[in-house]
Amino acid sequence: MRFGIKTLDDASVQGKTVLCRVDINQPVDRQTGTLKSINRIAACVPTIRELSDKGAKVVLLAHQGSDIEYKNFYTTKPHAAVLERLLERQVQWIDDVCGPAAREKIKALKDGEILLLDNVRFVSEEQTLFEKKLRLTHEQQAKTLLVEKLAPLADLYVCDAFAAAHRDQPSLCGFEQVLPSFMGRLFEKEYCTVSQVMEAPERPCVFVLGGAKIADAFEMMNTVLERGVADRVLTGGLVANIFLASQGKPVGQGSLDFIARSNYSEYIEKAAALYARFGEKIQLPTDLAWVEEHRQEAALGELPGDITALDIGSATAESYAGVIRSAKTVFVNGPMGVFEKEETEKGTKTVWQALADTPGFTVLGGGDSITATEKYDLTEKMGYICTGGGALIRFLSGEELPVVKALRHGASIPESKVR
Ligand code: ADP
Ligand code: MG
Repeated sequence: MRFGIKTLDDASVQGKTVLCRVDINQPVDRQTGTLKSINRIAACVPTIRELSDKGAKVVLLAHQGSDIEYKNFYTTKPHAAVLERLLERQVQWIDDVCGPAAREKIKALKDGEILLLDNVRFVSEEQTLFEKKLRLTHEQQAKTLLVEKLAPLADLYVCDAFAAAHRDQPSLCGFEQVLPSFMGRLFEKEYCTVSQVMEAPERPCVFVLGGAKIADAFEMMNTVLERGVADRVLTGGLVANIFLASQGKPVGQGSLDFIARSNYSEYIEKAAALYARFGEKIQLPTDLAWVEEHRQEAALGELPGDITALDIGSATAESYAGVIRSAKTVFVNGPMGVFEKEETEKGTKTVWQALADTPGFTVLGGGDSITATEKYDLTEKMGYICTGGGALIRFLSGEELPVVKALRHGASIPESKVR
């Protein structure tokens, strides 16, 4: 039991049918039907292997989005092949989610065998539009088709999908109402790591917030400063430009136009309010970089009036690197600039190298932040890379994650004997 949720150490799974929800949602190349990445699939292998080794009949539930938002119709068939390769054991698959064919297949499983069902979002009640529109309670989710059809066949529910922990859907929050429930090893690692950062970080604790998802960055910043989690916040990317603008610093007309075009003008006032309260903890760039034929940099007071700032400057990057190297805990979300382009990657590259070098514990999340880490070949040097961007951000914004709430509930349902 950790943070009110049972772990696999608390479960006896031998001979039992275990419904295990994983998040193996990966970018798909729809032309060829192949997966562009397999890192989420690899991340849940330890849980699946452990369940199978311990003699459970493992039934995997998963979703796979398509490249078109809210049309979640891509099959999980390629994932079964990848899992089979990574696990080095057979992974059965069926093109059904909870119909008679899937149920027969589940009933026929032998101890240790693994079955991956097709995309749970083929069931309408699992779709994001349905979730947002109807907002079913967890009790109501337990009465949906998926849960009513599958729960009677199972003894236990395991959730290993921390990356989807901010979702409020039957496959994630419904089974915990009727089955004894546990978190898988990946969920345990990710949830406990971020809970540790929130509740008792080793200090100094530094948050590095950059990138372009402004609403998220502001919410996180507000929460971690208000709760006293962050001793210092280093700002980069668009976040920094907005803060600088809020302090009346010249950031270039191009930068201001970009903020307005992105509908972020209201955040200039929000930044001013945050800075008024927590200014001594929020560090802003002292120089910025832009591109005019090639990379150019200048200290804040000396910037040309018309530029668009696309990176923090070298002096700022070095100063941030120093703070990071002497921190005990560093949380990072969002790059320092447009790191995809060579002229504007220096700030991100310097800061990321410091993240790799610091003896402190680093937690990094966010799709582009992870891409940058891979680009600079630093994956092995980070303390923890979180697979769940959305869930991580919601958690650090102080929200209770629906799946965490459901798992706490499911921890109180007693295990029964093997049927
Ligand atoms: P993550 O995916 O790590 O959560 P975000 O999605 O919030 O990060 O931000 C990443 C994007 O922000 C990148 O595509 C990057 O090019 C862009 N970006 C970074 N700095 C700036 C800037 N100063 N102006 C505009 N875009 C920026
Ligand atoms: Mg992103």
